[in-house]
Amino acid sequence: MNKSPADFPSCEQLIAGVIRPLVRDWHSYHVPSAQGMVKLDAMENPYELPAALREELGRRLAQAPLNRYPVPSYTRLKQEICSKLDVPAGYDVLLGNGSDELISMLSQACSMPGRKVLSPEPSFVMYQISAQVAGLEYVGVPLRADLTLDLPAMLAAMALHRPVITYLSYPNNPTGTLFDAADVLRIVEAAAPYGLVVVDEAYQPFADASLMSALPQFNNLVVMRTVSKLGLAGIRLGYMAAAPALLREFDKVRPPYNINVLTEAAALFVLEHLDTLQAQAAQLCRARTALTAQLAALDGVEVFPSAANFVLIRVPDAEKVFAALVARKVLVKNAGKMHALLQNCLRITVSTEQENAAFLAALQGALEEL
Ligand SMILES: *Cc1c(COP(=O)(O)O)cnc(C)c1O
Repeated sequence: MNKSPADFPSCEQLIAGVIRPLVRDWHSYHVPSAQGMVKLDAMENPYELPAALREELGRRLAQAPLNRYPVPSYTRLKQEICSKLDVPAGYDVLLGNGSDELISMLSQACSMPGRKVLSPEPSFVMYQISAQVAGLEYVGVPLRADLTLDLPAMLAAMALHRPVITYLSYPNNPTGTLFDAADVLRIVEAAAPYGLVVVDEAYQPFADASLMSALPQFNNLVVMRTVSKLGLAGIRLGYMAAAPALLREFDKVRPPYNINVLTEAAALFVLEHLDTLQAQAAQLCRARTALTAQLAALDGVEVFPSAANFVLIRVPDAEKVFAALVARKVLVKNAGKMHALLQNCLRITVSTEQENAAFLAALQGALEEL
């Protein structure tokens, strides 16, 4: 009881003895400050809900029973999601605190020593991080140089590694590519003997495509979505549709009250006004078309086709262009650091007409400076 702090191990000693080497070696996920910047780095919807809806939402949230735990079955919210977001009859959804949490639940429920998770790369980094945290091995299969899916390489890697989960971001983040639906279904079929295929449709509101309706054909298909990119990133709500028997297993590793009552109430309210968000998404798709054309017209800029609410471009020197954009108060994502295939690439969230114009002007200035 008379020990002085000096008798205890230092934090460095504790960390060396306690924290897994895998985790010690990671860098913290760095989110740069966007204070005073045009923020085009995180695929957020730039539009707010109209004032009248916000007021009504405020009244609705005021009625949420903050003193009570949520009712953990979330039956009504799940029913509303199923009926309004095209979940096939007989299929159910599981809710997550963002789809990040769903990815982590998938990893936890499937992890066993020696088992593997596979995805094309570059893709969403949480597939790898979450798999490794849960003790699964991760296998990345490079996309082709034009950032399309390399189906033969995928099938060969799957046959070799027999992944328990294969993730396909559809459309893919950070490239914006929409993989061929036939290729995706080939992969679902190939995986059937040993694993699940999770089709991550985070950008579905901006793509003319979804595999939700394919669920009844494949017991091993899971379709995951989020309301984040649609305009509700702040409420943290993701959902995942699959055969109910499968979802019951994943539900066992779900933290019991993972959706808080404010998120639940806000989501129920917004689902009544889905048309507003869908109109915003349609507007962003038109802006994407315009922005893509304007970028393609710039000397030295290569634009990759995108089915999401962001555009990936290649410039002569991404490091310099990124810094020059920051100097002009525009924050995009320097994707060049993410993967060898993305050398000199920047990822830009599609935003309002004004913000897109501000970005274009800044980019032109940055390119002239090179
Ligand atoms: C943004 C994103 C997510 C995460 O969504 P949250 O629901 O906000 O956690 C999942 N998958 C992909 C591909 C994304 O880009």
